[in-house]
Amino acid sequence: MSVLVYIESENGKFKKASYEAASYAKGVADQLGASVTAVTINAENNEVLGTYGVSKVLQVNNDQLSKFNADAYADVIAQAAKNEDAKVVVLGQTANDKYVAPIIAVNLEAGYASNVVALPESTSPFTVKRNAFTNKAFNFTTISSDVKIVGVAKNAYGVKENETSAAVEDFSPSLDASDFSVNVESVDKATDKVTIADAEIVVSGGRGLKGPENWDMIENLAETLGAATACSKPVSDMGWRPHSEHVGQTGKPVAANLYIAVGISGAIQHLAGINASKYKVVINNDPEAPFFKAADYGIVGDAFEVVPQLNEKLKEF
Ligand code: FAD
Repeated sequence: MSVLVYIESENGKFKKASYEAASYAKGVADQLGASVTAVTINAENNEVLGTYGVSKVLQVNNDQLSKFNADAYADVIAQAAKNEDAKVVVLGQTANDKYVAPIIAVNLEAGYASNVVALPESTSPFTVKRNAFTNKAFNFTTISSDVKIVGVAKNAYGVKENETSAAVEDFSPSLDASDFSVNVESVDKATDKVTIADAEIVVSGGRGLKGPENWDMIENLAETLGAATACSKPVSDMGWRPHSEHVGQTGKPVAANLYIAVGISGAIQHLAGINASKYKVVINNDPEAPFFKAADYGIVGDAFEVVPQLNEKLKEF
């Protein structure tokens, strides 16, 4: 018996969230007295997964799978799970993971728990702790099906190194036309900027910045830190910044290591989208701004003075 983990990659390179999924899978495998098998699709350097506790890698190299296709990818992962007699299948919670997990659940007649934040409370019955209500509460979910599917919330478990040597095997799932009956085209805009979804650090600006002409200081700070830029909803509604930068309950979710909020009050709808971030730093000239209650570090001050000084200081490192 093994625990199967799907390791997502893009252009052959593994996504960081997948290392967290692998670490989590190793934790579950230790609880069950099992080993971890990973399945990868058109990825390079599969051996490196041993660092995160993976004993065996099923590598799929198939040109038909060069672009993400939810049905086909789910079929590959389900076939790998059957091949390994996996009782637990672990994924991250990237957009693609969230897309394929329910399809795998249907294929394997398995229960699926998303947004899982810790190792199972118990493995019999199989009970996991999950985020609920946009991370404001937890619940415990028991999966009673034979095979269990677990989606690990980003930054919840962390990446743990479990030095193991990974044996890499070729795996050739059988795919047919039905796997490719739906095709969703995705177009990547050519940009040298870090995207919010992949960013380790996000620098975000709110209405306190007064107007779009003042965004240079946000861009400069982001460039120094190798960060993505984001904004509050009113900022994108007013057209100061593109809608793609709007984060929060009705915008993009952010689960960065570091989220720096400049001139953002910290309304509940904003916090709902960013509170999965590990460290939150707030810069606001109002000491009563609600964001300070959610912050790990705060600077009470005028953003127009604090941000350029912070940027100059950071450039020294
Ligand atoms: P403000 O609330 O105007 O805050 C500006 C802040 O800047 C203040 O705290 C002020 O003290 C500070 N400031 C002013 N000048 C300076 C200065 N010189 N230096 C430093 N600080 C300064 N909002 C989102 O962001 N994302 C969402 O997804 C979202 N979804 C919503 C969904 C619904 C259904 C609703 C009703 C609202 C939603 N909102 C969302 C809006 C949300 O309620 C707030 O109105 C919004 O987040 C406020 O944006 P802000 O903090 O940029 O502006």
